[in-house]
Amino acid sequence: MASDDVFKKIIAHCKEYGFIFQSSEIYDGLSAVYDYGQNGAELKNNIKQYWWDAMTKLNENIVGIDSAIFMHPRTWEASGHVGAFNDPLIDNKDSKKRYRADVLIEEHMEKIEGKINKEVAKAAKRFGDSFDEKQFRETNQRVLANQEKIDSIKARFVKALEENDLDDVKQIIIDCEISCPISGSINWTDVRQFNLMFSTQLGSVSEEANTIYLRPETAQGIFVNFLNVQKTGRMKLPFGIAQIGKAFRNEIVARQFIFRMREFEQMEMQFFVRPGTEMEWYHHWKDVRMKWHKALGMGDEKYRFRDHDKLAHYANAAADIEFNMPMGFREVEGIHSRTDFDLGNHEKFSGKKIQYYDPETQESYVPYVVETSIGVDRMFLTVMSSAYTEETVEATGEQRVVLKLPPALAPVKLAVLPLTKKDGMPEKAREIMDTMKFDFNCQYEEKDSIGKRYRRQDAIGTPFCITIDHQTLEDNTVTIRHRDTMEQDRVSIDKLAGILDDLVSMKKLFQKL
Ligand code: ATP
Repeated sequence: MASDDVFKKIIAHCKEYGFIFQSSEIYDGLSAVYDYGQNGAELKNNIKQYWWDAMTKLNENIVGIDSAIFMHPRTWEASGHVGAFNDPLIDNKDSKKRYRADVLIEEHMEKIEGKINKEVAKAAKRFGDSFDEKQFRETNQRVLANQEKIDSIKARFVKALEENDLDDVKQIIIDCEISCPISGSINWTDVRQFNLMFSTQLGSVSEEANTIYLRPETAQGIFVNFLNVQKTGRMKLPFGIAQIGKAFRNEIVARQFIFRMREFEQMEMQFFVRPGTEMEWYHHWKDVRMKWHKALGMGDEKYRFRDHDKLAHYANAAADIEFNMPMGFREVEGIHSRTDFDLGNHEKFSGKKIQYYDPETQESYVPYVVETSIGVDRMFLTVMSSAYTEETVEATGEQRVVLKLPPALAPVKLAVLPLTKKDGMPEKAREIMDTMKFDFNCQYEEKDSIGKRYRRQDAIGTPFCITIDHQTLEDNTVTIRHRDTMEQDRVSIDKLAGILDDLVSMKKLFQKL
């Protein structure tokens, strides 16, 4: 299936099964803003819990906070967001569509990369087992010419961004003959910088109104609370502060469903370290975070690291964890070594000393920071893209859509299904629900045939369905059906909790970390 089609199907599935709705849909929606439905909210909460517990329960030296969305406006001057949180935008004069200039150039390079990959795939087919990909990439003329094109565009583009040379960014678009996907023309405006922060007014209109911003990242709430947490928690370096919360960015091009939203949620952890040790911790957190992703069992080959070509002015190392989504490898999480930039600037802008007294070295200093920053919604999309499966059931030849979600993240863990609505089966089913509901999210369903009920549970990714039948009433056993294999076993009711716990509990994931 073409990747575009897969993506469209995932979006449709999310809507049909109560995972994600367009915000304010009855008013025709609000661009790049989404609501999570009954199943989406559960899945999202599970993702957050997996992250929060992995940070705060598994690390003695990481604590969590929940800071406000509104912050003093000076915060965003200190962080550099007022001056430099911009994207270069460009408009096509014919279609009147607005684009991010950097994204146009990156997509152009991806297209050339696609040509190379096609060439390699063709050769691999032609040469079979004797194919040496490395040698082919190093010697094939067409591959080399295309690689050279990518390298030279990249070098010029990085330089233009570093020097904030917007004229050259435009010139690259023209030289590469990048046209507007809608109008097909190369009739472009100049490139301009556009600040991504949303602003609003604090206080009533009659009072002295004050412009404040909706936070574009959660990290600053952590930085300004560094001393509060360090002192009240008597924390010793190295230690971390974690936070989950909403962030807002007025994205120029908000496409691709929940991949790029204007209101989204982040899970960020700032790890404070002694200056000079940050590289060691940067590599440590890269490893730890990749393990967290891979423990979900969605396929190790779907992840890769991508080092940043252009480092932010405050960073001395940065990499993204990318996941192979339907539209290709895309960033899910960033790991950044941010030096003492943020704390140092808050010290300058607030006039308050933000230093740590190190009892070992008997010195005071501004700590360095390594941050891990992941979008909850992007993680949601990652999980959905990996889980969505269409398959043919061998026994019946029938098609089924199943969400092969990591069981610990599934919105519903257990569906309790009485075979019929009579003979005391519903009552027995309710009795089982009443014992299981304290530990697992359960759903009771008695309408339609068992087959139809199984399909509905498959579509929302429920790992287990149990059926209460005549035999249940005689010997206290039920059939348990496994979502992925569709196999069914007969088990005693008092064993159910143990079986479920073994397969759906987050503990199993944590033990892999
Ligand atoms: P991008 O380059 O895709 O705009 P970024 O590098 O600006 O992302 P960061 O500022 O590092 O992103 O934010 C950390 C994480 O927050 C990202 O890895 C991503 O998961 C998430 N994120 C950032 N912007 C958005 C958005 N507009 N919608 C959804 N998630 C986002």
